[in-house]
Amino acid sequence: MSRTLPNIIITGTPGVGKTSHCELLAERTGLRHVSINQIVKDRECHEGWDKEYESWIVDEDKMLDAIEDDAKKGGCILDWHACDLFPKSWIDLVVVLRVGSATLYDRLKLRNYPEIKLQENIDSEIMDVLYQEALESYDAEIVVDLQSNTSEDMDANLDRIEAWLKQWKENNAQ
Ligand code: ADP
Ligand code: MN
Repeated sequence: MSRTLPNIIITGTPGVGKTSHCELLAERTGLRHVSINQIVKDRECHEGWDKEYESWIVDEDKMLDAIEDDAKKGGCILDWHACDLFPKSWIDLVVVLRVGSATLYDRLKLRNYPEIKLQENIDSEIMDVLYQEALESYDAEIVVDLQSNTSEDMDANLDRIEAWLKQWKENNAQ
């Protein structure tokens, strides 16, 4: 493995705070925020629009092809509400953000989510779906779940990820 910078996944249920964390983390560290949403849209890695869910039907192979070169170089912060599709060999840290269901409800309501999507996402958060997916897809040592209810949580999370990055660089110095 020849990455000089690690790749980090920031995952979790929609509304949990992935994009907010990724943007701030990219600012602080110089790592690249890779918004899978944006790539799916811009590079048309989808098989059309799901009207009921109001979201793209993602073509995962095409999406992985679109990010492969960047991921192999390292230094990516992958922002996506799933994590089991990325090759294990690409990934150094998986952060699963967590939020209380009342807070999540309010955040998704503000986004005008369709009721079916809103309810499914809240159930998914309550049932730890993304955390379980992360544990099933990666070694437990590289998976961490962090609370994202408040801006204080977010600050603490960013400090923690930054400290992890510093350590990774020391351990992988050539
Ligand atoms: P995601 O990318 O996971 O869907 P976002 O980063 O877009 O989530 O956040 C959804 C909304 O919740 C935004 O309005 C954001 O400002 C807010 N938010 C996210 N994380 C926190 C947090 N830890 N504390 C307070 N507000 C947050
Ligand atoms: Mn987002």
